[in-house]
Order: sequence, then structure tokens, then C-alpha cells
Amino acid sequence: MKPVFRLGLIFPLLLSSALYADVKDVRVWQSPDKTRLVFDLSNPVEHKIFTLSNPDRVVIDLSGAKVLNDLSKVDLQSTAIRAIRSGKRNSNDVRIVLDVAESLNPKSFPLPPNNVYASHRLVVDLEREVGAQIVVPVKKADSYSDNKRDIIIAIDAGHGGEDPGAIGHGRIYEKKVVLAIAQELQRLLMAEHGFHPFMVRTGDYYIGLRERTEKARKANADFFVSIHADAFKHPAAHGSSVFVLSERGATSEAARWLADKENESDLIGGVSLEDKEDHLAMTLLDLSMTAKRHSSVKLGSHILDHLGNISRLHKSHVEEAAFVVLKAPDMPALLVETGFISNPDEARKLATSSYQKKMARALFAGITAYFREHPPRGTLLEAQKNSAPVLNTYVIRSGDTLSDIAVKNGVAINELRRLNELKDDQLRIGQRIKIPNT
Ligand SMILES: [Zn+2]
Repeated sequence: MKPVFRLGLIFPLLLSSALYADVKDVRVWQSPDKTRLVFDLSNPVEHKIFTLSNPDRVVIDLSGAKVLNDLSKVDLQSTAIRAIRSGKRNSNDVRIVLDVAESLNPKSFPLPPNNVYASHRLVVDLEREVGAQIVVPVKKADSYSDNKRDIIIAIDAGHGGEDPGAIGHGRIYEKKVVLAIAQELQRLLMAEHGFHPFMVRTGDYYIGLRERTEKARKANADFFVSIHADAFKHPAAHGSSVFVLSERGATSEAARWLADKENESDLIGGVSLEDKEDHLAMTLLDLSMTAKRHSSVKLGSHILDHLGNISRLHKSHVEEAAFVVLKAPDMPALLVETGFISNPDEARKLATSSYQKKMARALFAGITAYFREHPPRGTLLEAQKNSAPVLNTYVIRSGDTLSDIAVKNGVAINELRRLNELKDDQLRIGQRIKIPNT
């Protein structure tokens, strides 16, 4: 190459990297309370945002920037944005105008590159007016018992929106798999008397880790479960696991590795520094958390019992690690890894709706079994537990018949069949049956 040509090429490149940013791509994510736009940039950019009304618009001015793509082609379906236009303000600056459906409050923050996004990003959140935001339903509308409330289960599908989570074999996205499992668990809990599901994330958008438990708390949740299907550095790793929060360190290498990965979500999915809580608030949260640890571990063991029936367990006990999303001071909280999407066999299974349903049923069985044993105060399940007859256990001896036992104890034979889930009246010696204390 001739020296003259090289000089000519290098000089504008250096200049442009100092002054210019190319807007390479735009993604739009819609959540119930805000619309998020993410601009991929070749460099960080200075910007100004303001709104105009009649009609409602949001204006973003970028200094020293150039838009590479036709923004009118961005998919805006089901978002609060009607149209995106861009134009040059002068030789250096660009103006992007969003036509919006209602008056929205803009917020913005930059994000540096990370291992998922190689570009700098500018995040613009358009928040709905407070009154227009979704109000959290706290009770089933058809709750039939007077003054006895449902147990509220907060279901958190991990990742979402900008944060795909782990990407498995065959381009299987963790964020999609876990949302499907969460929706199935929601359906099962909705149909169950005494329980009411609350979905932390209802679609493909990101929610900050702290905001997830905050939403659950506002919904008066009795329990928080975060559902994941992560990758591990060893593709052979497989099986499901259940985690509780620990401040004292992780119980295994995989637990520590997974917690570090999960805690990166805010960097990938997008949370501004201002939204992170200060250190004092975090310490207070951690102190009150210990009180709920015990119930979390018990609940986790119930879930493991049922997960063990459908998949091999990665660890047969509840594991511990410092997951930020589990910092919920006033409710038991668990993170469930439903499998390793990095394992080709498991990824294939996790992508099928039949396996997703099995997984949801196992979570459902574990959660409901725990709360039937330990119903919170004031709930329908507590009232049912208190009014349930005291049951004695009787061990069948040679010559016993079900009808004799019924007569001796003054119980209807049908009641014995129902209580003991007997398909016929065959008894075997040594069998234990439940008899109500009359
Ligand atoms: Zn995850």
C-alpha cells in the first residue's frame, strides 16, 4: 500500500472514533409499565431527551452520531411507539423522533460492552404514568371463603428482553424456556383452591434483579421462586438443582459459578446505576433474610423430592450461593435450575412443551405440599388444616377387613377408602391405614 493512501485512511478513522458513534441497531421491548429501546452504538454518545405533546412525541438528540439503518423498519408491534423517524440536525448531530401512543416519561442510561453484547448501548426507558401502570391483583376474584386469603406464589421467569440468559444447542433460549415453565405453573396454581399465582414477568422484557423481589413484595407474595435453565462450562453437567441465598459462600463450584452468571443479568438486561440500592439498604435486607432461610430450605427439599421423580438431580440437597435475585427479606425464596441448557440432551428436552409441563407439575407439587404442611396465618389452607379431623394410624393384622375396621371405629367405609386412596378393599398385613379419630 502506498504511504499516502494509508495516511488518508487512518486519519479519518482516528477522528471518527473520537467524535462519532454509529447507531448500528435498535431493539424495542414492551413491558406492562414501560417501553424499552436499546440502541447499539460503535462508541458511547452524548445525548439529550425531551418530550413534546399534541401529538405525544419523544425526541432523542445524539451528538456526533450517524444512523446506519432505516429506523422505520424496526418492528414496533404491540409497543407504545407508533413510529420512529430520524434525521440530520447538522453535519454532526442526529435527531430521532418517536411518535408515541400516550404521554410517557423518558429515562436513559448507557451500558458498556459485555460478553453478550460487544457494542456500547444506550438504553431509553419510556415509563407509563403511575396511574396507568398495571395494578397487582392480590386475591382470586372468585375466592369462596370469607376472610380467608389465598397463598400468593410469586413466579419469576429468569432473564427476558435484552437478557437472553443461556443459549443452548439449537439456539434454545433460556428466557423462552423458563417463561413457558412459569406460565404452566401459573395455570396450575390458578386452578388450585387456596393458591394464587403472581407472575413477575409476563412477556419478553427485562426486569432488574432487585425489582423482581420488589414486585413480589408489593403483591404480598408468601413465596418467591425464580426459574432458570442455565449453562455450565462443562457441557456434561446435567440435572436440576434448587438454591437458597447464602452470604457465607457457595456450597459447590457450580453454585458459585451459576450465582456469578445470574448476578451479571443486570449488566446484560440493563439496569442503571441509580436503580441499585445503597449498601446500607442491602445490609439490612441481608440481616432479616436469615429468618426466612429455614423455610426456604424446607420448601426447597419438597421441590427436590418431586423434581427427583422426573429428572436426575444435579445435587440431592438444597444448595446455597449468593444470588442477588433471592434477597427477599420477608418471604422464603428459591432459585430453581430446571436443567442445564448447555447439555445437548437436556436442551432438547427443555425445549419440548411436554417436559416443560412435567417440570411445572413438579414445582407445583412441591410448593403445594409444603404449604399444606406449613400454611401461613390467615389463609384458607390454614383454616382447612385446623378443621381437618385428627387421623390415627392403624397397622393391618391378619384377619382384618376394611368393613370390620369401619364398624369398630364408627367410620363410613367410603370415608376410609377416600382417606387412604384405596382402589379396592384388599388389605395386606403390615399396611398402615389412616382412621379419623371420632
Ligand atoms: Zn438463568
